[in-house]
Amino acid sequence: MNATSHVQPLYLRHTRPSSSFDAKVARTLDHLRLAADAHPGQIVQATSLGAEDVVLTDLIWRHGLAIDVATLQTGRLHAQTLALLEQLPAHYDALQPGATHRIAAFEPETAALAAWTTQHGDDGDSAIRASIDTRKSCCGVRKLEPLQRLLAGRSAWVVGLRAEQSTDRASAHWREEDPGRDGVLRLKYSPLLDWTWGDVWHYIDQHGVPYNPLHDDFMPSIGCAPCTRAIAIGEDFRAGRWWWEDAAQKECGLHVHDDASAAPTVSALPD
Ligand code: SF4
Repeated sequence: MNATSHVQPLYLRHTRPSSSFDAKVARTLDHLRLAADAHPGQIVQATSLGAEDVVLTDLIWRHGLAIDVATLQTGRLHAQTLALLEQLPAHYDALQPGATHRIAAFEPETAALAAWTTQHGDDGDSAIRASIDTRKSCCGVRKLEPLQRLLAGRSAWVVGLRAEQSTDRASAHWREEDPGRDGVLRLKYSPLLDWTWGDVWHYIDQHGVPYNPLHDDFMPSIGCAPCTRAIAIGEDFRAGRWWWEDAAQKECGLHVHDDASAAPTVSALPD
């Protein structure tokens, strides 16, 4: 299946935008502009290519904001996600003739991945499900270490967290001081924090944003192929991620801190 350019997203039939949708879009754009101005040449959107992230990329590229875009190519992504990785820059290149759009893809470090696969097998799927430590070590090699390279030399990053995605994310903030595993303190911006699922899909529809067709297969949250499944109606939004694990463990570590003393410091953005 190819990445969908956009016809009638499944979720549009089940969601409505907030009454303040237009104001939210305008405010989000203001926040992105503020972030870009505050970190010239040092700010990057870390995109998972999920619905929230394609909205952010659209805002950044449509409005020519000086924010780079990068992703983690873990080596275990769905074919549809990889197709979208190609489709998105091509879509905006066609929309804006003369402009070049790029999503930098950060892959696992070769030696670390070889060591992991020697221990757990080429895909390691059974090992990932048998032990949370092994699963986290896979996320460490395929996501956390590449994330450090993605963030190297950056003073800020932009992510697509929304408060309604999970209890943990409900306590996130628009802008946080984020202590990285490399010891560098960066600002992390979550400009979609108060967006609803309906807001996200109405933006995608309104602007014809290419999105991952797996969303139409009841996968609201898409990660690596072995660790993502479709959810049933009524299931929690992130029930399809690492579904064999306890809910409290369901993060890959990109947005959590091992050391509680390294918890983010919050600062408010202007309304
Ligand atoms: Fe490995 Fe699954 Fe984590 Fe992807 S999400 S890095 S496959 S454990």
